Amino acid sequence: MTATTLLFRDNAYARSCTATVLDVTPEGGVILDRTVFYAQGGGQPGDVGVIRRRNGDSVAVTNTVYGSDRSQVVHLVGTEAAPRFSQGENVDMELDWERRFKRMRVHTALHVLSVVLPYPVTGGAVGDGDGRLDFDIPDAGLDKAELTERLNALIARDAPVTERWITDEELDANPGLVKTMSVKPPRGSGRVRLVEIEGIDLQPCGGTHVRRTGEIGQALVTDIEKKGKQNRRVRLSLVD
Ligand SMILES: [Zn+2]
Repeated sequence: MTATTLLFRDNAYARSCTATVLDVTPEGGVILDRTVFYAQGGGQPGDVGVIRRRNGDSVAVTNTVYGSDRSQVVHLVGTEAAPRFSQGENVDMELDWERRFKRMRVHTALHVLSVVLPYPVTGGAVGDGDGRLDFDIPDAGLDKAELTERLNALIARDAPVTERWITDEELDANPGLVKTMSVKPPRGSGRVRLVEIEGIDLQPCGGTHVRRTGEIGQALVTDIEKKGKQNRRVRLSLVD
């Protein structure tokens, strides 16, 4: 099975590309050989956008997900539209950048939030302009205004956000690196993608991030919700 090349992983700012149809699924999905569309995962929804056929046909993508073995990316266009595509056909695709960029800003802000609140994260979600993290933390008198201030102070550093791959062997050779990570890296796949916010955060992550924290702009902690005795759900939103 030919894997889909994940262009969004090497360049989160790529908005469009050309691609070749590998297959069409009975569920109304189009599998392409490469894609700039982020596939749903890690609490971030899949991208939406359009696929343009060379005959001028423009087809809306309503969500993007991984195929069953996770090597291919499925662009959901509906059972009406999918059969119009044929294997080997060349197409142009363009994602809904306005929505994706908001998600990148929220996602990166959540990395910063995990530094403001250095507790184990048990869940999270990225929305269009807002997001949340769930923390394993007893009630510590968290204050929205104070968290907002600390969050924005870190964002305002305009720190560069970089991504790099590291092998399991390099990880084993650098125990100090693992110690500085806010989240322990998964083992066994041979390599891990590290996301570093310079001077602020280092953790394994497969998501899409902005290049500098300044691109997040102002963020606001909007809610701190009690989810059981040991759990607090903290919501933030972008101030646009
Ligand atoms: Zn991330």
